[in-house]
Amino acid sequence: MIQLDLLIIGSGPAGLSAAEAAANEGLSYLVIEKGTIANTIRQYPIGRTMFSTPNEVEMHVGTLKHVREKPSREELLSHYIHFVLDHDLNINTDEKVTDVAGGIDAGFRVVTDKSEYRAARVLFAIGAMERPKKLRIPGEELSKVHHLFMDPYPYVRKDALVVGGGNSAAEAALFLSEEGARTTMAIWREDWENRDPKAGAMKHWVRTPLEKEVAAGRLRVVLYKHIDEIRERTVTLTTESGDQETIPNDVTFVLVGSDADLTLLKRLGVEFETGKAGEIPVYNPETFETNVRGIYVAGHFTHARHIKEAIDVPRRIVPLIARELRADVHEAESLADVPQ
Ligand SMILES: Cc1cc2nc3c(=O)[nH]c(=O)nc-3n(C[C@H](O)[C@H](O)[C@H](O)COP(=O)(O)OP(=O)(O)OC[C@H]3O[C@@H](n4cnc5c(N)ncnc54)[C@H](O)[C@@H]3O)c2cc1C
Repeated sequence: MIQLDLLIIGSGPAGLSAAEAAANEGLSYLVIEKGTIANTIRQYPIGRTMFSTPNEVEMHVGTLKHVREKPSREELLSHYIHFVLDHDLNINTDEKVTDVAGGIDAGFRVVTDKSEYRAARVLFAIGAMERPKKLRIPGEELSKVHHLFMDPYPYVRKDALVVGGGNSAAEAALFLSEEGARTTMAIWREDWENRDPKAGAMKHWVRTPLEKEVAAGRLRVVLYKHIDEIRERTVTLTTESGDQETIPNDVTFVLVGSDADLTLLKRLGVEFETGKAGEIPVYNPETFETNVRGIYVAGHFTHARHIKEAIDVPRRIVPLIARELRADVHEAESLADVPQ
């Protein structure tokens, strides 16, 4: 079984930053990623422009190549992939961590769907995209219902419904409408009227073109109460005034947020508190170590949610982990020197 100083779960910006920091510290480390490198970014809509500026998402100042003021999905993805290649980081892709057990004294046993590892420390950089929120209504299991939007082009001249009130839903509705899908966006009034960026309001550069689509009659916005049922060719919904409406439908995107999969952390005994974005692990704000000694967290499912922080936090905490591991080795060597 491979013995590591640090095992990192997830190769998003947090996991990649942790890998580079671990390599710089001379640790034996491995990143295990269930999908591809920067899997979450790869699943952004094709051609999407980032909300962030390059300095907020690049690994090192000036290294992200971009044509416009803000980078595209493709430019950012390529940046992260070349970061891995250029630094020759240790990453196993297409391998899912299914269990973590043990403790700091005897070390952790990390089980994946392909192998097993031993690690002195484990960093969870698992993001917050694993569990898309569901409407839990009849028909949601149909194959035409998606909880992720990547590509408008299969839906030209089709009847598309987007359910949701955040930026992801607004962008999906906009891209579908612009590319010729007959699009309806079902949104709650409080989200449609929300103008507070701190409360998750639609970004103005999404809202402005979206309103243009509405004004041009290409996109219909329905202020709704709930979606009642999805069928093969239709969707029935109840509007905010209480009227029930059945609309033609070829494809439905339910984009109402997502949660992290906290199963492994809970099984280890990590404690959680309820934050604005749902359950957040309890951790030391200096070290990002949880109440379970040796188990660390970073990135989107902590309070440091954005990409910039997902990159910055591992650079602070991995050197602390390395220092502690060196101290452990030193102590073990000193004990070995003591005559029995
Ligand atoms: C459509 C969209 C647009 C966004 N735009 C922006 C933006 O403009 N600016 C910004 O700052 N943020 C943006 N975000 C948020 C941004 O994507 C996250 O802040 C960022 O990805 C967090 O990085 P992370 O490394 O914490 O998590 P992630 O990038 O989500 O990486 C987590 C990784 O862990 C892997 N993983 C999870 N569980 C396991 C397991 N059991 N075994 C192995 N691997 C596992 C996942 O496959 C994933 O690759 C956006 C998010 C979305 C969905």
